[in-house]
Amino acid sequence: MRDQLYINGQWVSPDLGGYFETLDPATGEPIQRVPAATEEDIDHAVHAARQAFNRGWGQSSGAERATWLEALADELERSQDGLAALEVRDNGKPLPEAQWDIADAIGCFRYYAELARELDGRQDEALALPDARFHCRIRHEPVGVAGQIIPWNYPLLMAAWKVAPALAAGATCVLKPSELTPLTALELAGAAERIGLPAGVLNVVTGFGGEAGGPLSQHPGVDKLAFTGSVPTGAKIMSAAAADIKNISLELGGKSAFIVFDDADVDAAVEWILFGIFWNQGQVCSATSRLLVQEGIAPRLIERLVEETRRISIGPGLERGVLLGPLVSAGQYQKVMGMIEQGRQEARLLTGGKRPAHLPQGYFLEPTIFSEPADSASIWRDEIFGPVLCVKRFKSEAEALKLANDSRFGLAAAVMSADLERAARLANGLRAGIVWVNCSQPTFTQAPWGGMKQSGIGRELGRWGLDNYLEVKQVTEYRSREPWGWYLK
Ligand code: NAD
Repeated sequence: MRDQLYINGQWVSPDLGGYFETLDPATGEPIQRVPAATEEDIDHAVHAARQAFNRGWGQSSGAERATWLEALADELERSQDGLAALEVRDNGKPLPEAQWDIADAIGCFRYYAELARELDGRQDEALALPDARFHCRIRHEPVGVAGQIIPWNYPLLMAAWKVAPALAAGATCVLKPSELTPLTALELAGAAERIGLPAGVLNVVTGFGGEAGGPLSQHPGVDKLAFTGSVPTGAKIMSAAAADIKNISLELGGKSAFIVFDDADVDAAVEWILFGIFWNQGQVCSATSRLLVQEGIAPRLIERLVEETRRISIGPGLERGVLLGPLVSAGQYQKVMGMIEQGRQEARLLTGGKRPAHLPQGYFLEPTIFSEPADSASIWRDEIFGPVLCVKRFKSEAEALKLANDSRFGLAAAVMSADLERAARLANGLRAGIVWVNCSQPTFTQAPWGGMKQSGIGRELGRWGLDNYLEVKQVTEYRSREPWGWYLK
């Protein structure tokens, strides 16, 4: 059991001595105590990260850093099964999903090891200039100390999305996991300790948003803030960053549309719609929570969708065969239940909306479908972040595109049609950072991830994820033997 902060390569107790309990969402029972970091601890962690950056990490080669990233991936791989089980206890998700998350997190460290190596090859590339008297070379240098604040829906995977590219770039990290799911981030610190990662390169500070996240986002020693979470918190992070012009990237919420045309295959559509909204209990920023169905296919599709939704097995994540676990916390459960109550006034409830009869404890909720909400309904417009789908019918392609784009969010969208030209037209017209065609949700470490509008700023993953932690520098040299001749003629 890890119940200390990981700062400067050491396990330390929080300065003010505060702790909190992390709970198992399947039972509501405590799992273990976790330190509640405050401003003092954040300050120590940022200083440690700065020293580690100056001591050599920031000047090391990509190839050296790649070796560390690979060692971290190997170390995580050694405890893969334990990590997956711990993720289920802390977050509630079904075990096969947690196993997938951990494998993806390990893959993410390996991928950024490759990119760290490639970075060496890109250093000092010459840039052609239109004036032969000058020579210009381009350098990619690490941003410095990164403050990274993450949510609870994919605890270790979100940590990997932040830490792997930062370390690959040569930045050092202060990672603050969500107070609801801090356990696997502490295990990541444990893995860093076991491989002997230089002290201060990765610091993990657990604690609450206001007491730990706030001071991290305001700390003058942080060069870069990388945040994933809700829009209101994203706005606070942005204001904090404005005070001393910190570099920021934000991955925020969504209310993504899934458009199904008449020519789609019903079975395939039902499968991807279910995966798009009920996977991870719908607690997915890119969940396709707004379903737009063309009129011709709508009766058959909706009937089948409701039938299959009722078949989803609900239970504790460690139980065999379970496909829907509990929501992450009492707070999230109450929030989603509140939105469902509101939804009952705004639309027709087709299925779900209540606690399953066989699960009197824990934060369990039946997968829920509403139909025909008004365009202005809150369940149609606001992010629910739970297993709740809203369905609307449309007639024409133009109407579908207009409805899909009528949102303050722009994270993702999905289109299902046998007509690939039409799907491509839609994909180009959708105002979203991610568009899935004939599927929903598959995510690859190589491809850019992030949103338009209020869904965020910047992109994670792929080479864009590495760029988040790099500064670009031009070194321009005057090589001519001729004098410049402006003042001195
Ligand atoms: P949240 O904004 O409540 O919390 C996210 C993190 O911010 C937590 O670590 C929290 O402790 C911290 N935090 C809270 N207040 C803070 C403050 N004032 N200053 C600094 N840090 C603070 O979000 P959540 O409930 O953990 O996550 C759910 C949200 O995250 C959803 O809106 C979801 O869409 C979004 N999300 C987005 C993506 C993406 O890639 N776009 C991925 C996962 C989740």
